[in-house]
Amino acid sequence: MQSNNLAVAAAVVSIPLLGGIAFGQTSDADAPWYGVPLPPGFQAHQAPVVLGDRPPEPARVPQGEERFPHLDGETMEADVQTIVDFARASRERKEVGDGQFWGRLGGLASASDATAWVVGHLEQAGIADIEVQQLQQDEGTALWLPLRWEMTLLANPAGGPGSGDVALESAMPLPRSTLPQGGVTASMVYVGTGSAAESMHADVQDKIVLRRVSPQAHSFFESQATFESARHLFERGAAAVINMMDMPGNERAFDYFGCGDTCFNLGGQDSRFLRSVLNHAAEDGTADELRMRLTLETESLSGLTAQNALAVIPGASDEAILIVSHVDSWFDGANDNADGLSVTLALARHFAALEGQLERTLIFLISVGHHTAGLNGPSHFVRMNPDIVDRTVLAINVEHVAGRNLAPARTFYPDGHREFDADTGEAPISAGITNESPYLQSLIDEGVARYGTNFVSGNSTASSGESQWLINLGFPVLTIMQAHPLYHTSGEVAQIISTPGMERMARFLAFYITEASTASAEALAN
Ligand SMILES: [Zn+2]
Repeated sequence: MQSNNLAVAAAVVSIPLLGGIAFGQTSDADAPWYGVPLPPGFQAHQAPVVLGDRPPEPARVPQGEERFPHLDGETMEADVQTIVDFARASRERKEVGDGQFWGRLGGLASASDATAWVVGHLEQAGIADIEVQQLQQDEGTALWLPLRWEMTLLANPAGGPGSGDVALESAMPLPRSTLPQGGVTASMVYVGTGSAAESMHADVQDKIVLRRVSPQAHSFFESQATFESARHLFERGAAAVINMMDMPGNERAFDYFGCGDTCFNLGGQDSRFLRSVLNHAAEDGTADELRMRLTLETESLSGLTAQNALAVIPGASDEAILIVSHVDSWFDGANDNADGLSVTLALARHFAALEGQLERTLIFLISVGHHTAGLNGPSHFVRMNPDIVDRTVLAINVEHVAGRNLAPARTFYPDGHREFDADTGEAPISAGITNESPYLQSLIDEGVARYGTNFVSGNSTASSGESQWLINLGFPVLTIMQAHPLYHTSGEVAQIISTPGMERMARFLAFYITEASTASAEALAN
């Protein structure tokens, strides 16, 4: 197996030293694989971006708020690491297959352990009214899991002497792909983005079809285009579709579910290697000779159980403000959603320690999340707690809140792909308010002015996978959410979280909740 095991981190760190030298350029015609440098392999738990010495801008502490110790960034930074560690333990103990895939997985121990840890800290914060609710996975649903897999460019003398097997280690199979035992071995065809116009002249029958996906931020936003083009390709007989993703580093990306057949994502460095090899092969007239092998073993789990936790801080009135944060994740899940969960825990500590009661009752929902079919946290919460739903006047979903902004600042690749560099702020944060209440929107404006939270400038009604079960229940829902470029990838690690960013968000939300607690029902409702 020919695989250059340089750590991704080493490759990334070396970028600034390389000046204008481009990866992927032919250097030696007698070298393997047309002289294209081999991809760096896969390295878990490493930030696939340049994290230089300039830290994020410090948090602003408005006068009088110095006395809120639970909103300091340091505790949240430690909490993010602990929450990420539940996911890393999932990989280390091979919770799924051989550990190629991991996370805080709803229905498995990794998510349950994380929830139990949060509950322990809510108790330590002095909250007396805590309830852990057991959830049963809905009948007829299943959690699809990839146990083990391989994507290999097969050895071929057409690539030049020494062109051995190359394992593309960032490959990630997507639900609900299936392959026969022994996998599939086929030639490849590259169809650009895979749109109907680009692929109409390509013969894709029984081939592994490669298409390029260039997410602008959140990979989620490309979902619709990837589904549509995959459908065309499968209708015309494609054996499998591979999304070559323009992403920082060489990460596994678990997104674009339900492509209709067998699909894989491929990380940035592996994708560049493969594209470069195919371009050289096309120039050489040897493209038809190259072969790829895909293998995949999966399982589907039913009858799972998970937990939601509810923590109540009583106010003067029974009317409730519901604060929701989800536990589950794909991979380390530092931004999705260890940062949001840490901010939520800080808010619970803050309000539990505050002298005097708020006007309204605060109910914290530590949700199992929304990744596992049949174990949706908010959906089960609504079914199990009609009394709370009835007295809720505002829900706030704290989800993906303090990932550092990653700018595609450096060009080192002949195909125009850029590596990413963290700057001194947080990635843009949207604040969707379902009922467009002018009052609730004005509090968002104040957040920018008082705390420097990087909210996008336009108002929206956006909700998320976590908040969609709460949006039609008669109360407004605020969804705080970033569209981070490492979303749902293995590169979403603790180092990319901004500690001052968490403090900005925690201080802002403490302010927001305090204000909303005294607002009139009319102001919240419209
Ligand atoms: Zn999330």
